[in-house]
Amino acid sequence: MKYAAPSSVEEATTLLSSSPSAQVFAGATDLVPQIRGGYPTPDVLVDLKKIDQLVSLANDADKWTVGAATPTVRLTEDQAFSQEFPGLSEAAGLIGSDQIQSRSSLGGNLCNGSPAADSVPAMVVNGVRALVAGPKGSRVIDVADVVTGPGEISLASDEFIVEFEIDRMPTRTADAYLRMIPRTEMDIAVVGVGARIGLSDDGTIAEALVVLGAVAPTAVRVNGAEDALIGSTADDDTLAVVAAAASEACNPIDDKRGTIAYREQVAGVLAKRAVRIAMERAEQRNGDV
Ligand SMILES: Cc1cc2nc3c(=O)[nH]c(=O)nc-3n(C[C@H](O)[C@H](O)[C@H](O)COP(=O)(O)OP(=O)(O)OC[C@H]3O[C@@H](n4cnc5c(N)ncnc54)[C@H](O)[C@@H]3O)c2cc1C
Repeated sequence: MKYAAPSSVEEATTLLSSSPSAQVFAGATDLVPQIRGGYPTPDVLVDLKKIDQLVSLANDADKWTVGAATPTVRLTEDQAFSQEFPGLSEAAGLIGSDQIQSRSSLGGNLCNGSPAADSVPAMVVNGVRALVAGPKGSRVIDVADVVTGPGEISLASDEFIVEFEIDRMPTRTADAYLRMIPRTEMDIAVVGVGARIGLSDDGTIAEALVVLGAVAPTAVRVNGAEDALIGSTADDDTLAVVAAAASEACNPIDDKRGTIAYREQVAGVLAKRAVRIAMERAEQRNGDV
């Protein structure tokens, strides 16, 4: 196995195309345990962390740009980012431990293809886009379209994500992320829920996104919850519809960490709570952030 540490996107693209089994990595917090566990060993391991663009975090008037290999700790430590996207920041801050977060990346969390990846529902509710590089040039795709099944992604084997683009959070709009784990820490989600709520001037909900993780092969948008929330004030009756729609949207596995019935029940409860938190945050965001 050859280790390569390119310093540019072009160099990384060439290295990745050099062998069918070449593979990029960022923190390697998924990759190394997988190789140790018997996954096939790549011919060439392409380290993305030496490319400045891949480990950046920046904002301009329109959007934030997060390098695909940027350590997730940056998303919790950067106050401007965590104030503007508290849900995405919370999701990043739930990945493993401090040690893991100093290595782990959004690119790795997404492209590992785990249904339980914490950052994915939080990215999807915020409409995050991925800039993808490959031998034929670059393209932009929605994060929602990257994972196609457990461990499966829509990128070609010679493509990788360079960075994520996140439109600036409008006023009176906010996100939230909650997850349920059986242990108190260092576990993966049995259910994860991302929510984003945007309010009109009259206080009713104009924008609603609710996305579940860990309850189906890929992250699931809960259309029934979103439809019920639009035009409402998230009163108790509406939240009951949100909970029922979230439970209904689940297609979970039954395993030692949670039965199907348990995951469905928890999805409903967490969806309600995440919507409430996003709603409260949206009410407080009046353009001063
Ligand atoms: C102790 C421990 C606890 C953990 N806890 C959690 C948790 O609570 N929640 C959670 O969601 N995850 C958890 N994880 C899993 C892991 O830490 C995360 O998924 C992390 O975000 C992966 O990022 P990484 O940079 O280390 O990925 P890597 O291991 O570097 O890569 C993972 C996969 O993604 C691919 N990849 C990486 N970057 C790119 C890119 N830019 N473009 C295309 N493909 C790419 C790699 O080829 C590989 O297949 C845990 C892991 C450990 C070891």
